[in-house]
Amino acid sequence: MSTPTIGVLALQGDVREHLVALAAADALARPVRRPEELAEVDALVMPGGESTTISKLAVLFGLMDPLRERVRAGMPVYGTCAGMIMLADKILDGRDDQETVGGIDMTVRRNAFGRQNESFETAIPFEGMAEPVTGVFIRAPWVESVGAGVEVLAEVPAADGPDARIVAVRQGNLLATSFHPELTGDHRVHEYFVRMVEAAAR
Ligand code: GLN
Repeated sequence: MSTPTIGVLALQGDVREHLVALAAADALARPVRRPEELAEVDALVMPGGESTTISKLAVLFGLMDPLRERVRAGMPVYGTCAGMIMLADKILDGRDDQETVGGIDMTVRRNAFGRQNESFETAIPFEGMAEPVTGVFIRAPWVESVGAGVEVLAEVPAADGPDARIVAVRQGNLLATSFHPELTGDHRVHEYFVRMVEAAAR
C-alpha cells in the first residue's frame, strides 16, 4: 500500500510529539481537529494529555460521534495515556460527565499509578519486541480488567499486591498504552501501529 495517512487528535495534549514519532515511523502524519479532517485519515492517534478535557472538546467540536463511527467501522486507533482512557469501554475514577469513544472491551482506572507515583520510568517487556520499551508514566491509568477479545501486550509488576498491572493492550485494530512512547525517541511502538494500519488496509 502507499504510505498511510495517520491523524493525531489535536484537541489537547502532546500532539506534536506523536506527529514527529509517526513521521519517523514512515507515516504521513497530520493533526485532526474537525470531522472533515477525521474523514481524510486512514487511522488516528489519540495523545496523552487530560482525558476530561479531550472528552469535553471532542463533544464540543462535534467529533465524538464521528470518532465512534470510525472506530465501529474498523479504523485503526492508537491511544496513549489519556488516549487509552478515550478508547476504554468503561472507566473508573473518571469525572461524572466524562465520555469516552470506547471500542476496547476493558475497564481503565484514571490516575491509577498517581496514588503511588506521580510519574516514573521503567523498562517494560512488550509482546513481539526483542528488547523492552521504556515506559514513561505520567499520572498514568492502568487497565483494571479486559474482556476475552483483548490481547495484553505489556504489564508492569504491581507495587501494592501480587498482581501485575496491564499497561498495553490490543483489540482488533485498536491499540492502547498507559505510557508515552512518543516521548522517548524510540519509535518501535509507533512502527508497530503503522504495521497494524497497513495490515488493516490490505
Ligand atoms: N491523568 C490524565 C487523564 O486522566 C492522563 C495523563 C496523561 O495522559 N499523561 O486524562
